[in-house]
Amino acid sequence: MSADSTRPASSFRRSTAALLQWIDSDYTPEGPEKMRNEPDKVDWVRCIPFIILHAGCLGILWVGASPFAVWTAVALYVLRMFAVTGIYHRYFSHKTYSTSRFGQFLLALWGATTVQRGALWWAYHHRHHHQHSDDPEDAHSPHVHGFWWSHIGWITSRRNFPTDYSKVKDLARFPELVWLNRFDTVIPLLFALGIFGLGFLLETYAPGLGTDRWQMLVWGFFVSTTALFHGTSCINSMAHLMGRRRFNTTDDSRNSFILAIICLGEGWHNNHHRYQSSTRNGFYWWEIDLTYYGLKALSWTGLIWGLKPVPQSIMEEAHRADHLASIAAAQRAAHVHPEVSSLKKVVPAAAAIAVATATAAQATMPKKAEGPAIHRDVTEQTEHSQPPRVI
Ligand SMILES: [Zn+2]
Ligand SMILES: [Zn+2]
Repeated sequence: MSADSTRPASSFRRSTAALLQWIDSDYTPEGPEKMRNEPDKVDWVRCIPFIILHAGCLGILWVGASPFAVWTAVALYVLRMFAVTGIYHRYFSHKTYSTSRFGQFLLALWGATTVQRGALWWAYHHRHHHQHSDDPEDAHSPHVHGFWWSHIGWITSRRNFPTDYSKVKDLARFPELVWLNRFDTVIPLLFALGIFGLGFLLETYAPGLGTDRWQMLVWGFFVSTTALFHGTSCINSMAHLMGRRRFNTTDDSRNSFILAIICLGEGWHNNHHRYQSSTRNGFYWWEIDLTYYGLKALSWTGLIWGLKPVPQSIMEEAHRADHLASIAAAQRAAHVHPEVSSLKKVVPAAAAIAVATATAAQATMPKKAEGPAIHRDVTEQTEHSQPPRVI
């Protein structure tokens, strides 16, 4: 059989596999290792649900808006951003606090509503990012792959779909977590159905709210989840481009107040790259970290405990770095811009020359009595002009 005739057959097999992977994300006929070693390539069939998620936002053209539906979208964004940052990131990826096995399962369920795949897949990719930050190996470095690839492209690439369970052994020993990770569309579908059902109840029993099942589905699921995806992706793309660097880490991670607001505290990314094991990413009170406040509140319920602080040595390093930065800033201010600095030297000299020139000009200027005035003032003009005629 020729190579050309085998190509359609293999692409058919791939498309069928991609369809099956919508349901069972661990289904890889060629084996996950081989898939992970492929070059980056967008898998369009596999990405159809992701495209539908974005296209669903256009539904607002048909369903319109109501304050209740819009506020539901905002609330679900915040609650699920907390799930991404406080659960997928600070618990499953870094284990910055403890919980029971049941608590862990509840957290995984909450995390699964974010539609950012399973906790193990998320943690595997995130740990890989910390190991290879801004190296060619890093799946979503804006410095290596460009902004759009780091923001959205990497998630569509075939090689990034399988979970490497060997890199998350601590989590893979819990079959309930592996099941949620493998069938990662189950919870998102139930969640969407739940919002649709809530909309049905509201349109039947609370018509005064002015919402309905389709409006709730579009705003509560499609709009909120798409915004959540892009908010989270800003950390992959922009947190290595935008903001200040306190710590001289080997990557290009940065601290950004704007990203800290969008992502509930994850914007203090340079702090986090310096020290990943702490529950808080904002190291000072003014580094607003809503995820940390939420986790602190959750610890009072007894669901989680053992929140890890920032060690004293890291805080001292932060003080030193800030001190050096303030000295550098003061030196920059004293040095000012080279153009301003040269102006400082030139202006006094120019003023001296101007004064000397003016004095010399006065000395050589003909006296009024010795000749006609060059410039006549108003009095002179009046004196020399004809008297007005009276008619
Ligand atoms: Zn990073
Ligand atoms: Zn991290």
